[in-house]
Amino acid sequence: MISHPIPYGHQLITDEDIQAVVETLKSDYLTQGPRIPEFELQFANYLGCNYACMVSNGTAALHLCAMALDIKPGDKVITTPITFVASANGFRYLGADIVFCDIDPKTFLMDLDKLETILNASPTGTYKAVVPVDFAGYPIDEERLHKLAQQYGFATVIDCCHAPGGSWTDSKGETQKIGNCKYADLSVFSFHPVKHIAAGEGGCITTNRKDLYDKVALYRTHGITKDTNLLIKNDGGWYYEMQELGYNYRITEFQAALASSQLKRLDWSIERRNEIAKKYDEALDKLPILIPYRQEGITHAFHLYVVEVHPKRRKALYDYLREHQIFAQVLYIPAHTMPYYKSLGHKEGECPVAEDYYTRCLALPMYPSLTDEEQQYVIDTIWDFYSQLPTKG
Ligand SMILES: *Cc1c(COP(=O)(O)O)cnc(C)c1O
Repeated sequence: MISHPIPYGHQLITDEDIQAVVETLKSDYLTQGPRIPEFELQFANYLGCNYACMVSNGTAALHLCAMALDIKPGDKVITTPITFVASANGFRYLGADIVFCDIDPKTFLMDLDKLETILNASPTGTYKAVVPVDFAGYPIDEERLHKLAQQYGFATVIDCCHAPGGSWTDSKGETQKIGNCKYADLSVFSFHPVKHIAAGEGGCITTNRKDLYDKVALYRTHGITKDTNLLIKNDGGWYYEMQELGYNYRITEFQAALASSQLKRLDWSIERRNEIAKKYDEALDKLPILIPYRQEGITHAFHLYVVEVHPKRRKALYDYLREHQIFAQVLYIPAHTMPYYKSLGHKEGECPVAEDYYTRCLALPMYPSLTDEEQQYVIDTIWDFYSQLPTKG
């Protein structure tokens, strides 16, 4: 019997992580020092992309992408309703008109067939950017998206907040790490504690395009530069210029140190998450529960292990698990049904697949430090729930 709460996700902080933070606190820099570029280099090397720009959180990362793409009020941007609202909000900050593209019922990711239908219905160039989300850690088909981007003339920003460490295979048979931007303009990550790399708060933008990197780096710190190549004039060593209206979206040195330390365990974390997923798959197979779909050739990053259950049972199962200290979570409430997005004219019925998904989904506890004993307790409790029902279904 387990008597402590089991959340749906949780960070793992090791002695090594604590050591890295303590060392940074004793160093000369708490912000704007060497740890941030160090992490950026490590992360870019890990993913295999040219540039990484570390920022204060994932939402800031999305906002900076929108700025770098020069999103203007009324520009149309397409995203998915099954995401954390920040995916859309980052573009709303600049007044973008958000279009929600319904999801694929198997992967729960933006349905690229439906995306194509939306794109086809308007002249080329109507949509400024498309922002798919690698929901739960499942990779979107970036290669197909890239082809559509070329055909219809939009920029691609992949919200990879759920998916660092995951990968997929392109049509040439090459493995592509999620967020490497081989087929995308920009990718964004979050280092919130519930995500794979926990830095307290934190985010990162990756790209292979120098022009976009320069912009996000400039906007991250007030639009101020000291780079002599970029200065319009130069009065001396003290001189800097504020060239654009930017923000303070910097992260601290000790958060960067924590992120670097966590990055070392990312591959282990993905392996462990996949192990946990396999155990759930096998244990829940005989119950009226739909387990997460995976295609050949992908490595699921398993930020979330989302199952689907009968809509009539979902709340009861959720409540039953809570009574037993298991805090499964419903992710996500479709973004277009949020009061704010409704106030902009969005409404129920807009994305029927996403709305149906929302009535069935449940994210079970999934994090690398979940013990075998804890997982078994989760499984047994789910079995108990179903065995107590008058009829199965
Ligand atoms: C967490 C998350 C974000 C936002 O990241 P923060 O660091 O919390 O600002 C954006 N998109 C998705 C899909 C997320 O899960």
